[in-house]
Formats: sequence, C-alpha cells, structure tokens
Amino acid sequence: MRELVADIAIVGGGLVGTSLAVALAHTQLKIALIDAVAPPANAASWDERCIALNDGSRRIFQNLGLWDTLRPQAEPITATHISERGRFGVARFTAAETGLDALGYNTPLRAVGAALLGQAQARLQSHLQWLCPARVTGLALDPRGAKLTLDDGRVVAVKLVVAADGASSALRGLLGFNADVRDYQQSAIVTAVRVQRDPAGVAYERFTPDGPFAVLPKPRLASDVAAGHPCSLIWTLPTARAEDLHALAEAEFIAAAQHTFGERLGRFTGIGKRIVYPLQRTLSETLSAPRVVFCGNAAQSLHPVAAQGFNLGLRDVAALAARLTEAAAQDADLGDGRLLADYAASREDDRRRTADFTDQLVRLFSNRVPVVSSLRHLGLLAMDLMPPAKRAVMQQNLGHTGLAA
Ligand SMILES: Cc1cc2nc3c(=O)[nH]c(=O)nc-3n(C[C@H](O)[C@H](O)[C@H](O)COP(=O)(O)OP(=O)(O)OC[C@H]3O[C@@H](n4cnc5c(N)ncnc54)[C@H](O)[C@@H]3O)c2cc1C
Repeated sequence: MRELVADIAIVGGGLVGTSLAVALAHTQLKIALIDAVAPPANAASWDERCIALNDGSRRIFQNLGLWDTLRPQAEPITATHISERGRFGVARFTAAETGLDALGYNTPLRAVGAALLGQAQARLQSHLQWLCPARVTGLALDPRGAKLTLDDGRVVAVKLVVAADGASSALRGLLGFNADVRDYQQSAIVTAVRVQRDPAGVAYERFTPDGPFAVLPKPRLASDVAAGHPCSLIWTLPTARAEDLHALAEAEFIAAAQHTFGERLGRFTGIGKRIVYPLQRTLSETLSAPRVVFCGNAAQSLHPVAAQGFNLGLRDVAALAARLTEAAAQDADLGDGRLLADYAASREDDRRRTADFTDQLVRLFSNRVPVVSSLRHLGLLAMDLMPPAKRAVMQQNLGHTGLAA
C-alpha cells in the first residue's frame, strides 16, 4: 500500500475544490487534489452550459489572478428583467444603478474549469498532487492528522481534509453526518437557444405557474458563425413535466419554449443539447469536524433559481483560504479545531441568508394559490418601486454580503 503525504487533501476537483487549490497556491502548502472523475475534454461548443458569476465572484477571481483570463469568455449581464407570465408586474435591476459595469457574467462552465485547472497546475507545480481519477472510500482520523483511502488502494496522509465533493458528499457519509434535504419535486431543463433579437446584455427571468424560465445572453465563440444570438435557457418545471418536454422533438420543444417565454427576443431559431437536472436543496448539518471542513455544494447545494450556488461556494473558498494562509504563515496546525470552528462560524450567516433567500423565491414563485399569486405580483411591482426592497435583493444577488468573512 503506497502512502502519499501532503498538508491538505481537497476531495473534489470541481469548481470549488480547484478554486481552493488556486487560492492556496501562494502558501507553498503541499496539496493533494482528488477527484473521482477525469476532467472533460476541453472542446468548446456553442451550446455548452454556462454559469452566472456575480460581482462578488468577479472580485474573488480578480484577487486570484484569474479574471483577465476569464473576462474575454464571460458575457456581461447589464440588466435583469423579472416578470410573471400573464401579468404586467415587472422588476428591473440595472448595472447603472449599482455603479458597476455589470451585475454579473454568464460564463461557460468549461472556461471556468479550464482556467482554474491551468492556474492550479502552473502555480502549484510540484506542490500539487493531482490524484484523478481516484475516489475517496475511507477516512481515518487521529489527533495529529487524517488518512484518506482511495479506491485504487493508495492512502493519503494529511493535516486537513477539505470536503468539496459535491451535494451527496462521500465524506459527510464517512463521518456519519446528516444533511437537511428538501426535494422540490422540480427539475431544470438546461440548454442553449438562438434568438432573433439581440438581448443586449439583459437577462430575462419569467415566472410561470410551473416554475421560472430564464434566458441569459451568452458569449459567442469566434468559430460560431450561425445566425441568431446565443443564449442560455434554464426552464424549471415539475419533474414529470420536465421529462415530457425533454422527450419532445426539437421543433416541438422550441414551440413550447417560445409559447412560455413569448416573443420579447423574437423567434427562437435553434436549440442545443437538453440536459435535465433534478433539483433539491441539501444543507450539511455541520461545516466542520475534527480535521475536516466542508465547502461548496458539499456544505450547501441550492436550487438554481437565483444563480447563487457556485457564487456562495466561492465565498466559502475565500473565507477558508484566508484562515489557512494565516495558519501556514505562522506554521500553525492546519487542522486545529479552533481554526476550523472559526471558519464554520464565519460562513453560517451567509449560507443561511443565501439558502433562505433562494428557498423563499422557489416557494413564492411555485405557488398557484390565487392570494399568493396576487401578493407575488404586488411584490414584483413593489420591488421595482421601493428602493430599500430593491437594494436588499440587489446586494444578495451581487454577492457582496458575506464577502469579507
Ligand atoms: C441547472 C443548474 C444551474 C446552475 N447555475 C448556477 C449559476 O448560474 N450560478 C451559480 O453560482 N451556481 C449555479 N449552479 C450551482 C453550481 O453549478 C454549483 O454550486 C457548483 O458547480 C458546485 O461546485 P462544487 O465544486 O462544490 O461541486 P461539484 O461540481 O459537485 O464537484 C464535486 C466533485 O467531487 C467529486 N467527488 C465526489 N465524490 C467523490 C469521492 N468520493 N472521491 C473523489 N471525488 C469525489 C466529483 O467527481 C466532482 O468533480 C447551478 C446548478 C444547476 C444544477
């Protein structure tokens, strides 16, 4: 049995785990980054999935020296237009109101992943052991460290284990911790669509009796010469209905989508590959344990209605990296219980607020009871007219609250 030794093991090389590796690059700590799955081939396509990065994430990526690489591939969202199908109430948010260039950036997931991985490999060099594909199957703790067992028989001995292994975290299971799981009985169909009219930086979210329907402008690849403006489409529906729509032929799906969204951006002229994501909220009961901390989806996985999940996970990364950097500078124990408890306490407020904000949106806009529907219609109008309500929602969406944890 081969034993590898590092300072920190990050279990999960998704966006969050890799962001943490990059955030620790300047510390000279030895990092083992472990992922069960090899990264996807780096082939860009016009219909690849995008992720909306908010201004808080832009700032974090800028601090990590990544934003210059990402910016050319990120489509700025300069305004959002939120409405309810069949009603005239609309809430509008504009970047101009915030003094920022953009409210957020719709960015291909592949571009973010490739930039992170490239940066991790370039800056960590021999300090990074990239163990992939390898699945963590065992965890043994003692007062001085932790040992992870991988499915290929290797053992990794470290001072600290960071669980960034996604919503159904294997580490949470190995530690016997629970999670609060809320199944929304909804799924999101995610795809790309070409629209006739230029969205000109506006992201649309339309609430329907079945769930929200969002269309966001996405970056055009240099190789994409087809007519029509590329956009991301995220359509949330009760799961059975999502499966029915997923099974439709392309033309029928386009007709159903067009009927739901309307003609604000003209005709939908093409559609990409459709992927269905079942939606649930998972909140880990704890963010720290002896020699283990949780971040990203392993800590909390949210409904995508407000595009908060990765943005929140990146704020976990910033908070954890700051504490580990300080500990490394003082040559302190990276798995010290007080350090880990301090990280967990610093994240509690932000994760609660963001999870509650997202959950309230899902419940409010999935409710068909007439009185609730009238209230939410008034809510949209009020949000557009009342600066304090609007400011509160804007701050949450920009990701500024919870940044300096
Ligand atoms: C439809 C949809 C749209 C979204 N849109 C947005 C958006 O616009 N903005 C936003 O901020 N967020 C959005 N999100 C949320 C965002 O995608 C997630 O929050 C984010 O990708 C989570 O990253 P992660 O690294 O924490 O977890 P994951 O991406 O789940 O990565 C976990 C990694 O751990 C690995 N792993 C698991 N178990 C093991 C094991 N035992 N051993 C080793 N490795 C293991 C996996 O292979 C995986 O690579 C959206 C989510 C969905 C579903």
